Amino acid sequence: MLGLMQDYPLLVQTVLDHAARNHGERELVTRSVEGPIRRYTLSDLHSRSLRVAKALAAEGIALGDRVATLAWNTDRHVEAWYGTMGIGAICHTLNPRLFAEQLVYIINHAEDRLMFVDLTFLPLVQALADKWPTIDKYIVLTDNKHLPDTGMKNVVAYEDWLAPHDDDFTWARFDENTAAALCYTSGTTGNPKGVLYSHRSNVLHGLMANQPDVFGLTSHDSMLPIVPMFHANAWALTYAAPMAGAKLVMPGAGMDGASIYELLDSEKVTASAAVPTVWLGLLQYLQETGKKLPYLNRVVIGGAACPRMMIETLENDYGVEVIHGWGMTEMSPIGSTGSIKHATAHLKGDARIDLKTKQGRTPYLVEMKVVNDDGQEQPRDGKSFGHLLVRGPAISSAYYRHDENILDKDGWFDTGDIAHIDELGYMQITDRDKDVIKSGGEWISSIEVENTAVGCPGVAEAAVIGIAHPKWGERPLLILVRQPGAEVEKADVLAYLDGKIAHWWMPDDVVFVEELPHTATGKLQKMELREKFADYTLPEQG
Ligand code: AMP
Repeated sequence: MLGLMQDYPLLVQTVLDHAARNHGERELVTRSVEGPIRRYTLSDLHSRSLRVAKALAAEGIALGDRVATLAWNTDRHVEAWYGTMGIGAICHTLNPRLFAEQLVYIINHAEDRLMFVDLTFLPLVQALADKWPTIDKYIVLTDNKHLPDTGMKNVVAYEDWLAPHDDDFTWARFDENTAAALCYTSGTTGNPKGVLYSHRSNVLHGLMANQPDVFGLTSHDSMLPIVPMFHANAWALTYAAPMAGAKLVMPGAGMDGASIYELLDSEKVTASAAVPTVWLGLLQYLQETGKKLPYLNRVVIGGAACPRMMIETLENDYGVEVIHGWGMTEMSPIGSTGSIKHATAHLKGDARIDLKTKQGRTPYLVEMKVVNDDGQEQPRDGKSFGHLLVRGPAISSAYYRHDENILDKDGWFDTGDIAHIDELGYMQITDRDKDVIKSGGEWISSIEVENTAVGCPGVAEAAVIGIAHPKWGERPLLILVRQPGAEVEKADVLAYLDGKIAHWWMPDDVVFVEELPHTATGKLQKMELREKFADYTLPEQG
């Protein structure tokens, strides 16, 4: 027997309707790409998104068409995002940091029909447009006054394109499983793969993000999503914030410590989210200027392991609660958060920080388990590690236009991460499966060694890779970047690590480099490091 409740499809445009109706006065503030701060209300956002939908429909964009965006987090990007999805077209957010060849591959694979693009990326468009035959028009997210002469016929200023259309438009209505958004993963090998989110998965994921142990946004919050909209849905924030009626503060192209601080302060930001490198920049700025963070009460840090020192500094010196998050593009992306729960609330000092360095517990609507190489589930004892598998309604079942089967027979998706889970459900990532270091048959967690090493005074960034060893198979090499002006040496780092990590995890050598290679989403490019150090000989082997 079926229940007798309304068949009300979960469509993302209903989020904006709700926000405009109930929190229409709340602001959306943007550091514009042109420079000045721009502000309007969620009611304006709703109206302008409807106008985008109407303008897209007038262009002949219809259900299932792909519309690309190459843009920073701004008001206009949010309008383009909702306007596209609201007519059942698919908003394809592109990562501008990808290599040109990857952007060519992705756009042709997706067959995008239009592109919304920020002024910053016009040179990229000018260089690559003739390799993107499916794109008919480039809509530059600016006004006529700021649009430079590109010499291209199919380029129009967003405000000119929008001007003829009012907001007298009704969103399309369709099945909630209709595709809403497309985001390609920037894998380290092979071509990028498209993750295709549905309206249903995005709405459920937005609700999930607003659970108290995740972002827990309310209408009292002022939220600054620093994580880009092209990085897995800005971690749900462009849905979760309007759902809650939180104020949205969009950073535009200003990702440096000073620009971020200015918004945190002037817009009284209470919650924010970004990858560790962004917080590193902010912390450096705060330390140089002696400024404080009186309004900010919590930040979600994820996308890469959050160093212990960062949690300690933000919590102890600045009074900001750190929520360490883990996830991946295929998971929309939220998978877990290291939030305190009733059973861990008694933890103080180091024990509390230790817990927070774990990637944490799943929110409702994510299931996870760890299995060994034979697929057998490992006990939740905080030490038995293996492959981390996940399942849930906002997790990929396949890649866009790919035949490859990515789920096992019970519907589990292998994240490619190696982890263990403890008795209370706290998961800790020890490595990517491709990055594990196997020494004498035992695994060394490169992530844990890296995180400990960045706590050493003078160290800015750390990477650990395995180097072939005749006796042990592999031994760890620690590669470090010094903080500007620091004089830290190998002996200082080894002395610092001594006693903080298992003795047999101690790196066999430490080398210093000017910078470490990163992927387009800010992750360490270990493959490149392994190639660079392929012929490296560890000292005791020499
Ligand atoms: P992406 O899809 O580009 O966001 O990458 C997802 C991958 O980033 C995960 O599978 C992890 O390997 C890594 N990752 C994300 N968050 C964390 C975290 N908090 N700690 C360690 N690794 C992380």
